[in-house]
Amino acid sequence: MKQLDCILRLSNKFARLPGVGAKTAQRYAYSVIDMTPEEVEEFCAALRDVKTQVRYCDECGNFTDKETCEICARREKNVICVVAYPKDVLALERVSGYKGVYHVLHGTLSPLEGRGPDSLRIKELLARLNGVEEVILATSTDVEGEATAMYLARLLKPMGVKVSRIAQGISMGSELEYADEITLLKALEARTEL
Ligand SMILES: [Zn+2]
Repeated sequence: MKQLDCILRLSNKFARLPGVGAKTAQRYAYSVIDMTPEEVEEFCAALRDVKTQVRYCDECGNFTDKETCEICARREKNVICVVAYPKDVLALERVSGYKGVYHVLHGTLSPLEGRGPDSLRIKELLARLNGVEEVILATSTDVEGEATAMYLARLLKPMGVKVSRIAQGISMGSELEYADEITLLKALEARTEL
C-alpha cells in the first residue's frame, strides 16, 4: 500500500532532523497521528516559537530571546571564553566555577570548506576587548578548532590581552559538548597562556 501523502510529507520533515533515519521519521509521524488536537497545536506552537523568539545576543552571539543574553547581562566581562557554537556555551556552563562571559564564533576556520575569518564573528570579538584581561580560546581540539585558536591568538596577542588555550593533553575528544564536566573543568583550569 502506498503511504498517504500527508504522512509521507511529515515523515520527510522529521527525516531532516539530525540523527533521524527514515524508519524513525515514520514512527514520529505515526505518533503525531495518535496525539490529541491540543497536543498537535502545542507541538506546532513550540516549533514556531523557537524560530520566532530565539535570536543571537548582541554582545556574545549566544542564543537568547532578548537583546542581551542572561550571561552577558549578569557576569563580569574581564574574561571572555571563545567557543565555536552556542551548544559549547551550554557544555561549559555545566561546569561550575567559570564566572566570565563567552563569545560565540558560529563556526571554525576551514579552508577546505571555504570558511575563512570573515565568516566567523571575529570583528565582533575584537570590538569587545576594552577592559578585558584574558581571552580563553575554547574551540575544540580537532584540526579546525586548533587552526581557529592559533589564528585568534596571533590576532589578539599584539593587542596586549592575555590569551590562553584550554588544556590539550586531556583527552576531551574534538567535541566540547560531549566532554564530561570534570574533563571540561580540568581543561579550563589547566589552560596555558599562548
Ligand atoms: Zn550574550
